[in-house]
Amino acid sequence: MQDQTLPTLTESAIRGIACKCPRCGSGKLYAGFLTLRPTCEACGLDYAFIDSGDGPAIFIIMLAGAIVVGCALIVEVKYQPPFWLHAVLWLPLILATTLLPLRAMKALLIALQFHHKAAEARPIDREPK
Ligand SMILES: [Zn+2]
Repeated sequence: MQDQTLPTLTESAIRGIACKCPRCGSGKLYAGFLTLRPTCEACGLDYAFIDSGDGPAIFIIMLAGAIVVGCALIVEVKYQPPFWLHAVLWLPLILATTLLPLRAMKALLIALQFHHKAAEARPIDREPK
């Protein structure tokens, strides 16, 4: 029998960053790079509720953009290197700052969605007057 208590916010965040099931923390979340498993292999949680949308990409774009543009500006102002050197420097940095944290960011947002029971808005059932 599994524990039905909700994890704390810190536990949820750690499970997210580790790309583990948001409920039990032991099952894997992904079947591929960003492809989700249909259910948790450990506790059986159905992952159909997951809807991270564009959230992870937006956070990564904002973070990676600040890092890469900041570094490029600093290098340009201090050293004025040729443009080919900018390409050699920043293309790998762009790949590293976007692809590496994307899995963890998506899993973190999924864990936070599970923790806060976030879902699409539904109309409120009202009693007829
Ligand atoms: Zn699980």
